[in-house]
Amino acid sequence: MNLIEANAIYRLAESGDSSIAIPVKEAIQVIEDALDSYGEHLALSFNGGKDCTVLLHIYAAVLRKRRGQGQTSPSPIPTIYIPMPSPFPEMEAFIEQAAVEYGLDIFRVPCAEGSSGKKGMKEALTLYGHVKPGVKAILIGIRRGDPFSDKLTHKDMTDKDWPEFMRIHPIINWTYSQVWRFLRALEVNYCSLYDQGYTSLGSTYDTYPNPALKVEPDGDNHSHPHCGAAMFKPAYELQDGSLERCGRITVKPTSHLSIQNPGQVQETNSDRRGCNRLASPVVTSPTAYSIKQLHT
Ligand code: FAD
Ligand code: MG
Repeated sequence: MNLIEANAIYRLAESGDSSIAIPVKEAIQVIEDALDSYGEHLALSFNGGKDCTVLLHIYAAVLRKRRGQGQTSPSPIPTIYIPMPSPFPEMEAFIEQAAVEYGLDIFRVPCAEGSSGKKGMKEALTLYGHVKPGVKAILIGIRRGDPFSDKLTHKDMTDKDWPEFMRIHPIINWTYSQVWRFLRALEVNYCSLYDQGYTSLGSTYDTYPNPALKVEPDGDNHSHPHCGAAMFKPAYELQDGSLERCGRITVKPTSHLSIQNPGQVQETNSDRRGCNRLASPVVTSPTAYSIKQLHT
């Protein structure tokens, strides 16, 4: 990140538009404090999602500011990425792009065979702690609207049964719409899936475009002219942030190996808070059908 881009973030923090200035200022302060406390022992968790993209952009700006005018070569940013089973190729591509753009030093810790979700993440973090004992604190792009985050603050030690890291949450108080205002105001690059109607990204077998963004039939523009698939508005057009996870389902695979057809997937609503008034995810993306094996 160059100084002009870094300055743009600080200008946003000082702007008269308090609905975005206040959260940006808050995130800068939390990152400043974390750098003061942990310095080189601080890492970033990054999975290519919109929230950690915001976090990364602000983090890079703070680092750039601290380096000052003279110094030109930045140190790589220590980053942990835990690839989940069957990731979207678009997310993987975006992670690679961000690594180059921001100078990330990404340590990939894959989930163990047969593990995913929180269990997989916990195991991967345990391994990370062994391989990188110098890392004491990790920046996380979690927000209050995410599951199980109600009690989190800017700084929380991991839970007792998790490997020991200080969790730093600079955007914990941000809303869905603030995330999008930030990304769009500063023209930050983000994963292309968000422009296809995805609003929360998981694996290919549990993530669909958000039904709340489906373009309603009003003539000729409700389906793709060539393949007939339904079309979706981009993620930043979702007005009600409580519907963010309505394109996510909680999957209980009936067999270890294959969900050839999402119709065979057993769905629970536990991860789709606020989504009851919407129809079940409409499967339209060819990507959503692409899972042949869960553990690649
Ligand atoms: P997202 O909104 O996509 O994720 C929120 C943020 O988590 C992302 O912005 C990113 O910073 C990070 N993240 C998510 N997935 C990945 C990934 N695959 N690779 C790298 N970073 C990722 N849960 C507990 O119950 N107790 C704990 O003590 C605990 N400690 C954690 C420590 C760390 C360092 C991380 C990364 C997660 C931890 N979690 C813990 C899990 C956390 O609470 C969320 O469940 C998890 O981050 C996924 O969040 P989400 O579903 O809201 O997805
Ligand atoms: Mg999130």
